Amino acid sequence: MEKKIINGIAVGTKETKNIMTKSNSPLGGYCVNPYVGCPHACRYCYASFMKRFTGHTEEWGKFMDVKDWPAIKDPRKYAGEFVNIGTVTDGYNPLEETYGRTRRVLEELKDSGAELLICTKSDLVLRDLDLLKEINQKNRLTVSWSINTLDEDFKNDMDEAVSIERRLAAMKQVYDAGIRTVCFISPVFPGITDIESIFLRTREQCDLVWLENLNLRGGFKKTIMDYIAEKYPDLLPLYEQIYNRKDRSYFEDLEKKAEAMAAQYGCRFVDNQTPYERVEKGHPTIVNYFYHEEIRGSDNTGKRSRKPAHTEQ
Ligand code: SF4
Repeated sequence: MEKKIINGIAVGTKETKNIMTKSNSPLGGYCVNPYVGCPHACRYCYASFMKRFTGHTEEWGKFMDVKDWPAIKDPRKYAGEFVNIGTVTDGYNPLEETYGRTRRVLEELKDSGAELLICTKSDLVLRDLDLLKEINQKNRLTVSWSINTLDEDFKNDMDEAVSIERRLAAMKQVYDAGIRTVCFISPVFPGITDIESIFLRTREQCDLVWLENLNLRGGFKKTIMDYIAEKYPDLLPLYEQIYNRKDRSYFEDLEKKAEAMAAQYGCRFVDNQTPYERVEKGHPTIVNYFYHEEIRGSDNTGKRSRKPAHTEQ
């Protein structure tokens, strides 16, 4: 297949029979990924495992397949279903400007009655604000931005997406347009991510703050540990404690701090997905997704199989 090189990224195409993929998360629903690959190239990308299944030899972040699919038949069959757009790519990556595949999905689902969640690190979402407003009239819609720092230098070390300032500005504009927004503080880097400063910066422009710990698995563990050793050597013992000796006390203490912060600012602090709702401005619900792989069940049961600190994960 002939590939184009656009801004250093090898861009191909991929035909797919169905753009709606059943999710295997406990919450069920569907995932939609209009692209294969992601040019944001986050160093900690959990989705980079995708490379194994795609036959790509390029580095993660240096390839992209633009998907094509037969139009979604009978979108109403997804009414009431949870649809997550962008689980292993960012649907609003820079190529979306040219290819408009995420816009196409939104057009196809706009009368479906599905509950849509868009996860992004981009402000390109603003291009579709009119469409999002229209969707928001008839469907439940949420837009989430991943923001794990206010320090643009650290952000630049970690990803090639737009600046934090641009993400914050986009979140505000979407929130002001009456659409439910999330500040996804993820992944929380021990000793680097300052949850409280991000919360204070975003509390007036989001309904939810999600917290997720940095989880170092697979190939990127070494990349991140080497980065910490080089740029934050004072933090290396802490990273070794957490990621080599599996000591959870740092995140357990952080949970307590986040809970205290929630109480201080009159916010709910919950352990799991909450039902769709809007909250009073300035009082976003804080959702503790630390070690969320342990959360059992759905319907916000919020049950965790907690293990005490200092034990194997
Ligand atoms: S934006 Fe998401 S999918 Fe894209 S590289 Fe970053 S973590 Fe991976």
